[in-house]
Amino acid sequence: MQHRLVPFLVTVVLFSAGCSGGGSATTATSPAPTTTTASSITAAPTTTTPRFSSPLTGVGNDRGLGDSLYPDLGNAGYDVDHYTIDLTWDPPSGSLTALVTIDAHAVAPLDAFSLDFAGFDVTEVAMAGTAVDSARDGAKLRVTPAAPIEVGEAFSVAVGYTGAPEPVVSPAISFPVGWTGAEDGTQYVAAEPDAAHAWFPCNDHPLDKATYTFRLTAPTPLTAAANGVLVDEITDLGASTWVWEMEQPMPTYLATAVIGDIALVEDPAATEAGGVPVRNVLPIDLATDPPSSLALQGDMLTFFADILGPYPFATSGVAVVPGFDAALENSTLSLLGRDFTTNDDAFETVLVHELAHQWIGDSVTIGDWGDIWLNEGFATYLEWLWLEHRHGPAAFQSTVTRNHAAMVESGLPPPGEPPADDLFNSSVYIGGALTLHALRLEIGDGAFFETLRMYYDRYAGGNVITADFVAVAEEASGRDLGAFFDSWLHGPLPDLPTGQ
Ligand SMILES: [Zn+2]
Repeated sequence: MQHRLVPFLVTVVLFSAGCSGGGSATTATSPAPTTTTASSITAAPTTTTPRFSSPLTGVGNDRGLGDSLYPDLGNAGYDVDHYTIDLTWDPPSGSLTALVTIDAHAVAPLDAFSLDFAGFDVTEVAMAGTAVDSARDGAKLRVTPAAPIEVGEAFSVAVGYTGAPEPVVSPAISFPVGWTGAEDGTQYVAAEPDAAHAWFPCNDHPLDKATYTFRLTAPTPLTAAANGVLVDEITDLGASTWVWEMEQPMPTYLATAVIGDIALVEDPAATEAGGVPVRNVLPIDLATDPPSSLALQGDMLTFFADILGPYPFATSGVAVVPGFDAALENSTLSLLGRDFTTNDDAFETVLVHELAHQWIGDSVTIGDWGDIWLNEGFATYLEWLWLEHRHGPAAFQSTVTRNHAAMVESGLPPPGEPPADDLFNSSVYIGGALTLHALRLEIGDGAFFETLRMYYDRYAGGNVITADFVAVAEEASGRDLGAFFDSWLHGPLPDLPTGQ
């Protein structure tokens, strides 16, 4: 997400000496990866069961989900099925009032449980319509149900709250993330990796994916957008409620809201070309004169579907917002900073990167933040493949060579070992992408693109760790690749294989 600007700068500015065209100097090409035959997603294993569940004991469990970098995030005692976020935005006061209902089921006996939640004044916590005991402790909201919850038992908890949302300082990055208000009044959310719980109470770790209903209310003439499909708009007494449904499981960090003087703009041409309904959320003045690269979305959708498999969601598009100097792949509605629109190449690069994430990151979701290279290395490599598709093999090769040289010079940690306080360092993007390119050279195009298809087919809708990808690559290639990945992900940057 925010990470986006970093790699963008790395790729385009730092690494692009010798590139033309400003933005997507990262042009690419070489053997076109046009091995289509996208296998359909059959029996997608929706593994939302925590893989790192720590033993749960006692009352008031608020142990985290055991993430290797941020172990306090989340709670391993339950699995959320659905969030209903009913939220009213009040511009004059700069505050919101919300009622969030969480439908979940216990995966451990629960005398009590915790939600991740920061900020706001909590006005009610209720289960089955009855107030229950709760207490706040730092970024945890502890809830004590009237009776213990058994393993497998479904339960629902509603949390009401009000206050002014504020961006938060994440331990992972150096600038604030979360709910943000732009100078023109537009409100938007970019929450990766851990700021979702600064706008709604949740099990804030990507292992716990869930479906969502957003009911966003704002005064006329504002518009409110969120992930998924717009299913209703109710206008009454000078305000409108926009109801959005996200029917595919989504990690908390990709949930978003965009509220402001904005327009929902359907794109029939991109819809036709991509085979997926495309609608964008644009500032009013851009709605009639949108960035030209937006028209490429249909081709991008087709390009990635050919490489990986069918687009995972019911709709696609981006929200362009002012005051945001990064981008984030929010599911079905990537968030792009308006400043990117001043450079067509830059906008195209960011657009295609975030769209690639819809498959890799949003549908196939990491189960541990330490495996962030699985998100960013893939999106960067898919971005290079698109640029190859657009600009040819020589440009692709020069991008690989230039980025390899820059990584050697960078002194950054290997992509498989991101520091907890610099999660989105450039190595997870560039080093991760180089790892994939090295794999392609090592096992050949046939096995490499089969690996990508198998990986997506197997894990769409679920969670992964690096070992899952390694296993797929070994299966597709018939090779033992343990030493290869160990070297590329954990050692000093190797030279690229010479290929076949
Ligand atoms: Zn990314």
